Amino acid sequence: MSAVEIPQRPTLFIDGSWTKSSDGKTRPTINPYDAKVLIEVDEASAEDAQRAIASASHFFKTSDWPHKTFEERCNLLSRYADLLQAHKSKLAHIETLDTGKTLAESEIDIDDVTNVFRFYAKEALKLQNEKTISGDLIPSSVQSKVIHEPVGVCVLITPWNYPILQLCWKLAPALATGNAVIVKPSEVTPLSTVYLTKLLIEAGFPAKSVQLLTASGASIGPTLTESKDVDLVSFTGGLATGRHIIRSCAETVKRCTVELGGKNPNVVFADCDLDLAVDNVLTAVFTHSGQVCSSGARLIVEESIADRLVAGVVERAKQISMGSGLDPKSETGPLVSAEHLGKVEAFVDIARKEGGKVVCGGMRPDPKQHPDLAQGYFFLPTVVDHCDRTMRIVQEETFGPILTVERFKDGDEETAVFLANDTAYGLAGGVQSKDHARAERIARRLRHGTVWVNTYGAYTPQAEWGGYGMSGNGRELGSKGLDEYIETKHIWAEKKPAMMGWFKDARM
Ligand code: NAD
Repeated sequence: MSAVEIPQRPTLFIDGSWTKSSDGKTRPTINPYDAKVLIEVDEASAEDAQRAIASASHFFKTSDWPHKTFEERCNLLSRYADLLQAHKSKLAHIETLDTGKTLAESEIDIDDVTNVFRFYAKEALKLQNEKTISGDLIPSSVQSKVIHEPVGVCVLITPWNYPILQLCWKLAPALATGNAVIVKPSEVTPLSTVYLTKLLIEAGFPAKSVQLLTASGASIGPTLTESKDVDLVSFTGGLATGRHIIRSCAETVKRCTVELGGKNPNVVFADCDLDLAVDNVLTAVFTHSGQVCSSGARLIVEESIADRLVAGVVERAKQISMGSGLDPKSETGPLVSAEHLGKVEAFVDIARKEGGKVVCGGMRPDPKQHPDLAQGYFFLPTVVDHCDRTMRIVQEETFGPILTVERFKDGDEETAVFLANDTAYGLAGGVQSKDHARAERIARRLRHGTVWVNTYGAYTPQAEWGGYGMSGNGRELGSKGLDEYIETKHIWAEKKPAMMGWFKDARM
């Protein structure tokens, strides 16, 4: 076990205090590298969730938090960014123990979200410039302006693959705009969120502006999403859960944004730089063992280079070094849980039955060759060649290290675009070609929220992130990421009040 202190119980933060669950229940959180229990985490009950909602609602309605200037709140965001950097090493260690991802990846996540907080610390200031309306369309006696206010109590629900990243994409804009937040991390990887919550309080955010509930979605989800005292739910996770959440928010007509899965195409043309394309394809699909919503899991390749490209990817995939995320030699870690490993294994069986040719991986590492990986939830980087668009392995999100390969005839851009868009999802995609005009043409025709050209996977807080189709609604990051968390109000003030004249003179 590492020397880093893992956050200890109690892990619920309700009404400004750390507390255990009302019914005393706990849930183990597991290190996916060796399947050992890291700690027991408090499992919030529905009663705890009700208490958090009541506290957040009371705080939002009675405190000065929503009425503070944007400047005051943005200063807290900047202080938080500094704290994230000061605690980077501990936080990264905890994230790696809990998720299995490499330490280098966890550190990148922390640098990324530091930038997200710094970005919103500036971007939210723009909202204090209230828009004054004048001109021909309103009388000169009227002072008319549009102002921005927080939405209210926001429930932020996050998945297990990027616990720090996905939470901070929500926290920064929600807090910059003066909302009260209730955070519910995935029950599979809650530890870094406990740490992040401690840092929020240390940064000086009011204690009741944030509540933390560690629990399964099934147990407290409905209490949170159905409550009339919750004004917004921002959810990142799987399609099935997202649909469920949209339905349960409908009853109270609360604002609801969902960031869901993807089945992301990576379109490679014969005029690409082949070595670069091999590297891009590999990085796109095998980073974090494929447990990435924007993972480039569908290779769509021009026929004349298909065999060479697949051979290059297979050769490199076989050399990927797997191990503990804490070991600097590891290039990827395990899958997150035994349950998820089971799902990924089942997908390879499906692919075989559907006629796909597994040309690499397709199984857990051999325990005789890799005894160090035998306890953890490892799965070998897998390539399934000769797939077609009708297969489940091509259409469904496996969320594992599985690349499918589809081919299109040389020069047939129409088919390439058709295949790339032939998914219910629309989160992200890639185009690899040295012909910049072609790459731009194809990028514009992809029905996906982010498209990378001759690279894969980067993002910036300045640009919006989100999906078309069943990858979700709304956008995170960028200036639109703030829109999710504000109400917009128009104030029309008559400076020279007079009788309106609609009805007979009401003068007494
Ligand atoms: P999940 O849907 O199983 O769980 C996500 C969160 O929802 C967890 O906190 C869970 O406890 C909670 N939850 C479950 N049932 C709930 C309910 N009834 N009410 C309220 N909350 C409930 O997803 P996961 O397996 O944790 O994450 C993987 C999924 O997330 C993948 O599909 C991936 O593509 C997606 N994802 C999307 C993005 C994006 O930006 N679009 C980013 C990361 C992950």
